[in-house]
Amino acid sequence: MKSALVDTSSGRRLQEMHVESIGSDHACLHAGAEVRDLAGADLPIAVDELLAAYRGNEDSGIDAVAHRVVHGGEKFVEPARLDDSVLAEIEQLSHLAPLHNPPALAAIQRARAALPDVPHFAVFDTAFHATLPDHSREYALPAGVRQRYGIRRFGFHGINHSHVASSVAAHLHTELEKLRIISCHLGNGASVTAIAQGRSVDTSMGMTPLEGLVMGTRAGDVDPGVLLQLQRADDLDADELDDLLNKRSGLKGLTGTNDMREIERRASKGDRDCVLAIEMYVHRVRKYMGAYAVAMGGVDAIAFTAGVGEHSALIRRRCLERLEFIGAVLDLERNDAAKLSGDHPIATLCAPKSMVHLLAVRADEELAIARAAASALGG
Ligand code: ADP
Repeated sequence: MKSALVDTSSGRRLQEMHVESIGSDHACLHAGAEVRDLAGADLPIAVDELLAAYRGNEDSGIDAVAHRVVHGGEKFVEPARLDDSVLAEIEQLSHLAPLHNPPALAAIQRARAALPDVPHFAVFDTAFHATLPDHSREYALPAGVRQRYGIRRFGFHGINHSHVASSVAAHLHTELEKLRIISCHLGNGASVTAIAQGRSVDTSMGMTPLEGLVMGTRAGDVDPGVLLQLQRADDLDADELDDLLNKRSGLKGLTGTNDMREIERRASKGDRDCVLAIEMYVHRVRKYMGAYAVAMGGVDAIAFTAGVGEHSALIRRRCLERLEFIGAVLDLERNDAAKLSGDHPIATLCAPKSMVHLLAVRADEELAIARAAASALGG
């Protein structure tokens, strides 16, 4: 669980903390260089500890709490001020993001109890993709089926894709409306978004965060016929397929780990599974980049963000090599040297002659979430 106390006018983080390994004996709270043991802490206790630590900071003066909620469904396309009825509506969306929405709701409930006198907001990862044109958002299924179950593509990571787009525009001193951007969010979950004139026009995740790229533990695109085959041949039920696709596939299924650092290390020593995993991972990103460049009729900037996108020069290089034909020329030294931080949240990766800007952008969901809540508050 990540968190930050943000001054929304300056964009500065006054304090940041995160809790790791919630629910295990290794649970611990990281506050700057300090690490506090929270062995055995479950999610509600982790929330209590975090908020107590913020309130311990006398100058904190918290005005609002803003929570990231992954799935906002059809309804939530703006930040929502939380009350019991909004929470009940979010709860009804849990089946669309079973890994994400239920723990977010549990954390929200605990935080509202701990800080009842300030407004709480939900900011939705699906909201930025509310602009998807019909041809990107619909699946080619019969209209009756789609309507009965609300089946459509929603897209995710919108908070960060939107932050990346505005950061790229500010960095290039260009109006967002004049840019065609491909934003590659490569973390444990991973998605690519095509952003034209500041609007999401296509994205690789679909109705749930399962579609698209090869991810840490998720398979991404799989022929639906494979699932039919597994149901028929192995008698797998929905929960077993869910577990297979969400938790046992992707990099973890290919190599045994979802940690890209370890995969890169093992690949450099010749581990064939890891070599193949990197090739598949990169190939899938390139397929989406190519598709989106064509869909937008060209591309002005390609940005990499999140754990792998920010830190792995190898993955960025492999994704961006041989793109001269679209005018994108990577500078290998710049790519190797790129180091992002709070003070340097964006780095140029391309050669001066490149017609397409290639960038690494630090994910800052906390700032984007805080700003969304501030603007909903009219601040
Ligand atoms: P989450 O989606 O959980 O927020 P992150 O954005 O933190 O995930 O990304 C996690 C991924 O980033 C992991 O696969 C991790 O191995 C990878 N990662 C972090 N640092 C590096 C690095 N220096 N090189 C390669 N991969 C890295």
